[in-house]
Amino acid sequence: MTDNGDATPLVRVENVNKHFGALHVLRDINLTVSRGEVVVVIGPSGGGKSTLCRAINRLETIDSGTITFDGRPLPAEGKALARLRSDVGMVFQSFNLFAHKTILENVTLGPTRVRGIARDQADKRGMELLERVGIASQAGKHPAQLSGGQQQRVAIARALAMDPKMILFDEPTSALDPEMVQEVLDVMIGLAREGMTMMVVTHEMGFARRAANRVVFMAEGQIVEENTPDEFFTAPRTERAKDFLSKIL
Ligand code: ADP
Ligand code: MG
Repeated sequence: MTDNGDATPLVRVENVNKHFGALHVLRDINLTVSRGEVVVVIGPSGGGKSTLCRAINRLETIDSGTITFDGRPLPAEGKALARLRSDVGMVFQSFNLFAHKTILENVTLGPTRVRGIARDQADKRGMELLERVGIASQAGKHPAQLSGGQQQRVAIARALAMDPKMILFDEPTSALDPEMVQEVLDVMIGLAREGMTMMVVTHEMGFARRAANRVVFMAEGQIVEENTPDEFFTAPRTERAKDFLSKIL
C-alpha cells in the first residue's frame, strides 16, 4: 500500500465533470485519496457517489478534468486499463459473484485468468483469503448457498486476490439484512487497520467513526463538505449536511 513510499496521493481527482445527457452528475469534483487512507463518501441518493467510484475505475468516462491513479492519468484501454482494474478493487452493493462457480473459484478466477497465476498457487492464496474473511469452510459451496453477508465477504476476498492498491466499496452493506451488516463491516475495519487504501460509499456511521480518516459529503454532484468523522457527525458545517444527517440518524 505504500509501495512507492511517497507522499503523492494514490488517487487525485481534479476539476472533474460528468454529464448523463442534460444531467450534470459530477460538478467540478476535486478529491485526493492518500496511500493507506480510508475515505468515506456519504450523501443522498442520486448525488453522484457511484458515478465517482466508477470514474476512478474507469467504468465511466469523464467529460472534463483529470483523474490520476498512482501518479499517472487513467489509461483509456488495453493492458494498462486491465492493470488499473486489478489495482483498484471494487465491491458493490450486489455481490456480483458467479453463480455457477464455487466460492473458491470466484476468488481464484481473476488471479488465474487475468494475472496468470498458477492454479495451485491461486487456490492456496484463495483459501488464505477466505480464511481471512472467515468463510474458508464454505469454499466448495456455490454463492446461493451462502447468506448475503457471507457472499459479500467472498466479494471482498475476490477483490483482495488481485492484490489491489486500493479498494472502492459502493454501499457494500445496503443490500444486507441488518444482522449481517456488522460481519462485513468487521472485515472492512480489519482491512483499514492493516493499511489498505479504501474509498467507501456508506451511511454506516459506526464504520465511519471507527475506520475513516475523512468523510466526504456529496450532494447534487458536488462535494459539499469534507471533514473528520467526529466533526462531520457531531458538528456538520453546512445546512445541506445537517439536513441529510437529521434524516439518517
Ligand atoms: P448515487 O450513487 O449518489 O446515488 P449515482 O452516481 O448513481 O448517484 O447517480 C447520479 C445521477 O446520475 C442520478 O440522477 C442517476 O439517475 C444518474 N445516472 C447514473 N448512471 C446513469 C447512466 N448510466 N445513465 C443516465 N443517468 C445515470
Ligand atoms: Mg450509488
